[in-house]
Amino acid sequence: MTQTITPQPGILEIALYQGGQSKVEGVTDVVKLSSNENPYGAGEAAIDAFRRASYELHRYPNTDHTSLREAIAAQHGLDAARVICGVGSDEIIHFLCQAYAGPGDEVLFTEHGFGMYRIAALAAGATPVEVRERERVTDVDALLAGCTENTKLVFIANPNNPTGTMIGGNEVARLADGLPAQAILVLDGAYAEYVEGFDGGLALLEQRENIVMTRTFSKAYGLGGLRIGWGYGPKAIIDVLNRIRGPFNLSNAQLAAAEAAVKDQAHVNRSRTENTRMRAWLAEALAEHGVPSDTSCANFILARFASPEEAEACDTFLKRRGLIVRLVASYKLPHCLRITVGDESSCRRVAHAIGQFKAGAE
Ligand code: PMP
Repeated sequence: MTQTITPQPGILEIALYQGGQSKVEGVTDVVKLSSNENPYGAGEAAIDAFRRASYELHRYPNTDHTSLREAIAAQHGLDAARVICGVGSDEIIHFLCQAYAGPGDEVLFTEHGFGMYRIAALAAGATPVEVRERERVTDVDALLAGCTENTKLVFIANPNNPTGTMIGGNEVARLADGLPAQAILVLDGAYAEYVEGFDGGLALLEQRENIVMTRTFSKAYGLGGLRIGWGYGPKAIIDVLNRIRGPFNLSNAQLAAAEAAVKDQAHVNRSRTENTRMRAWLAEALAEHGVPSDTSCANFILARFASPEEAEACDTFLKRRGLIVRLVASYKLPHCLRITVGDESSCRRVAHAIGQFKAGAE
């Protein structure tokens, strides 16, 4: 029988997103370093708020997220009316594509850019356009050269996943200023909290009409399982995104926990400090074992191996020892493993195992 009910153009081109594996067959003592999660978990204030909110399961949540938006705005010195909250920053990325890109429109991102940009562009019927990087760093000139009259959205993650590299504020401003008039620059700040003193470029948004920022509670806030993110941008754009947002996209428990989390910056600060310390330690330990990496500004390291075969063999070697890291072949980095910076014992364990692997252990 031939299938006559077909989805919209582009949908079948979407390759299913592969989340980080969390189990290894036959191994019980597993350390998951494959999804850039916070090894210290969520803060106590967020956990308490989540528990308290779960007593009101029968109540619909607030549709406009006022209290959470105000807490986010107060923390970052922003206008609460220009904040939008979603089911992870993934949902904000989808809203942007759905609202601003359709058939015939182009959505730009970098060759080792986050996989959701392609998925959201295709889901909206738009054309994803991949632009080369310069040695695993976002290349502003290449992005500007890649723009056409059909470019509607340009996504960059800063710091970028999975490379961990970032570009400076001047480069971001140059990109925003050079874009065609019809294009929006989306600054994905999923890892911004990991950069000491960095607001992800929020200050730049006050001076430009063509930038939207996305942020998440999944990383430094330790709330990946809660699924909550937010966006900030010009009022007109946020108004458009709110029109397509489901009125009850976030539950009471999500809203309460995220609000408590944003007010608990001590937890974010501790997470950042520990990450910075262990990231430096891990990068150095791997380098000593002959595994280089670029300077990472995020909570993971992109470890480079001699070949795709070696990276794959190391991945298998680590898995057999209960250490789950991420092969990033789908990000066109087949000779690399992305390793989340875990707590001290996880970092020691993974570095030790990579040392054994490089020394030729079976
Ligand atoms: N942007 C980047 C660069 C990411 O790495 C991730 C998570 N892997 C996200 C956005 C989405 O995060 P979430 O939907 O959990 O907020």
